[in-house]
Amino acid sequence: MSDPGLMSDDVVDDVVDDGRFDRLRATATFADAAHEHWMQATLAVVGVGVLGSLFAREASRSGTHIDLYDFDIGEAHNKGNQPVEVGEPKAEAIARLCNSIAPGSARAHVEDIRHVGAGSFEHIALIVDCTDDAALALPLTELSNGWGIPLLRLAVDGSGRLELGRVLVSHGGQGHACQLCASSWKDVFDPGARTPCLGDEKQQAPTNAGSALAMSVAGLGLLYAQRLVGGNGSDRILDEEVIVDLDTPGILPMKLRRNEECLSGHTRFDPTHLDRSAANTTVKELFWLARIALEDSRNPGPLQEISLAFRGHPILLGVACPGCGLELVRPGTFWRPAPECPRCGVVMERRRDAALDHMNQAQARALGLADTSCEALGLPTKGALVIARAPGYSPVQLLFA
Ligand SMILES: [Zn+2]
Ligand SMILES: [Zn+2]
Repeated sequence: MSDPGLMSDDVVDDVVDDGRFDRLRATATFADAAHEHWMQATLAVVGVGVLGSLFAREASRSGTHIDLYDFDIGEAHNKGNQPVEVGEPKAEAIARLCNSIAPGSARAHVEDIRHVGAGSFEHIALIVDCTDDAALALPLTELSNGWGIPLLRLAVDGSGRLELGRVLVSHGGQGHACQLCASSWKDVFDPGARTPCLGDEKQQAPTNAGSALAMSVAGLGLLYAQRLVGGNGSDRILDEEVIVDLDTPGILPMKLRRNEECLSGHTRFDPTHLDRSAANTTVKELFWLARIALEDSRNPGPLQEISLAFRGHPILLGVACPGCGLELVRPGTFWRPAPECPRCGVVMERRRDAALDHMNQAQARALGLADTSCEALGLPTKGALVIARAPGYSPVQLLFA
């Protein structure tokens, strides 16, 4: 594997401006200060397959910065429509491509987006979901609503039968429709509609689509991204979903309506920023930090039982052996590595059937978690968001460094 491009801990550079953007700035999209906003922004592109790779390449060429998220590894069947290498993480291949065009423009994150802390998105200008994974609709909408940043969803019909795609613009944190405003609980939580997590046996259905359709959808998505971030013409595209039909052919815009009863709650993040990481904070210390933050919120009355909820990371209580069937209590989030089976040595699996959405101090002690670091519990290493509640108090949010 050659130079993998910038990795997640590297600092993105200033974009080289040697006259290459002069003609972009002469367009209505980038007129006035819009291209300056675009150059100063960082976009999060989630999924760098057939759509994300095209979007990222042209976005970075036009002067912006990109964080690329994808845990997928390139395979031979990807090479017909994606610039990836067999055996190399896709995010690294695409980051290298972007950085060869615009040095310092892209960072690779070979991670599952569900295990990336909310703090990683605090200073992102736009999230671009190129996964078409229904299981990501809620977590990405929460990030968009939470930080008040727009979310673009790009998708192609992956059945291989239709040259059909779509671009959905949502911005629930700023008073517009979010992408879940028209969804029911069943749409979002029906197991049959969801694709599995990383590590599950079942694989997501392959996306059977060619570059021609992907270029059309990524092209429309890029224009919308430039308008949303640059500011020119963004009013015209909010609350909109556009169907791109290359068979008919036609482009069909549809209006999205904000639903105040939306299941996402359109909840904004307003966290207390902790100056410590999940790695050097135990669960016991986190309860102590939560107590300070709740007391600072100056609610009346005595502070009684505190409970903590970890965003996107419920505490799963048990593990089971896929070999011999042994079941043990070994609490941790889905991301905490499961132990080897003491009976047959096979690596055990986390069970999802018994979970705590929130945990109080007595539960933490009973489960033997008080002295466990929050990272070892299975929280993201950086930027995990924790919600602390106590009876009679407004909840407070704590954001790890
Ligand atoms: Zn909504
Ligand atoms: Zn076993």
